[in-house]
Amino acid sequence: MRTAISELDLRSASSLTEALAILRDEARTPIAGATDVYVALNFGTLKPKRFLDIWALDELRSISLSGDTLVIGSLTTYTSLIQSPIVGERLPMLVEASRLVGGVQIQNRGTIGGNVANASPAGDALPVLAAADAVIVVRSDAGERRVPITQFYTGYRATVMTPDELIVAVEIAPVEGKQWFRKVGTRAAQAISKVVVAGVRAPMPRIAFGSIAPTVVRVPETERALGDGATIDDAEGVLAREIAPIDDIRSTAEYRRRVSMNLLRRFWAETG
Ligand SMILES: Cc1cc2nc3c(=O)[nH]c(=O)nc-3n(C[C@H](O)[C@H](O)[C@H](O)COP(=O)(O)OP(=O)(O)OC[C@H]3O[C@@H](n4cnc5c(N)ncnc54)[C@H](O)[C@@H]3O)c2cc1C
Repeated sequence: MRTAISELDLRSASSLTEALAILRDEARTPIAGATDVYVALNFGTLKPKRFLDIWALDELRSISLSGDTLVIGSLTTYTSLIQSPIVGERLPMLVEASRLVGGVQIQNRGTIGGNVANASPAGDALPVLAAADAVIVVRSDAGERRVPITQFYTGYRATVMTPDELIVAVEIAPVEGKQWFRKVGTRAAQAISKVVVAGVRAPMPRIAFGSIAPTVVRVPETERALGDGATIDDAEGVLAREIAPIDDIRSTAEYRRRVSMNLLRRFWAETG
């Protein structure tokens, strides 16, 4: 049954300073685009009852360069990512991923910060950020810290964030090498990934998968094998041993393993 709206308590913040002060003083769950939160509301699985709407914080919406580092504000929507010339030039695999998130309505409302904070293993931006060695910038009233995305997740739907922190930005240093993204779902749009992968073809390749483990994962043994000159046949074998996908309602472990191996082969062929 749907969660009753009358049970919920919503506050809004109009500046980051105000939002962080509210989170310091009160236990509230932030809401950005609400596209994930609303699904839980609709299914009646929403546990938090007290929320903080951060949608009005325009200071978290910019896409800019700081020196050579691409800085994407956490409230940046997929539509803004798709339309951004800097993102298109610096991180085309993020544009590709954004085009395949939900449909246009979700792209207009869903944010990169929400995708990261929601911590779903199927989040489509996450393999891109992991392959790009992105850094997640989180801030509380007490200060700011930077966490490499590979250290951001501690388990299924779990992150290093504390309840008083907000993600304010994602930072990405220049990515050298050809970028590649592929999502396999039941259909092209409005599909949750069965397997999603992003890769960077550098001398030491960087490859990250989603939907095959409790969190987004890099595959360092496979990366090392390819970097050291292994054949793609051998690298596929390394990948098959390195990953441990599970059966769930969307797919079987065996299907996910096979598809991951096929995607690795395709990444290698199409970026060579
Ligand atoms: C129909 C539909 C299709 C979808 N398709 C896809 C898809 O193809 N691929 C995909 O990856 N996702 C998909 N999603 C999921 C969702 O749209 C994305 O995960 C989106 O990026 C979430 O962003 P949001 O701003 O709406 O997050 P919200 O729903 O507002 O928040 C999600 C979670 O993140 C937390 N949060 C949000 N912003 C911050 C912040 N700045 N700091 C700290 N915590 C924060 C919230 O507290 C909440 O726990 C889909 C959702 C729907 C409803």
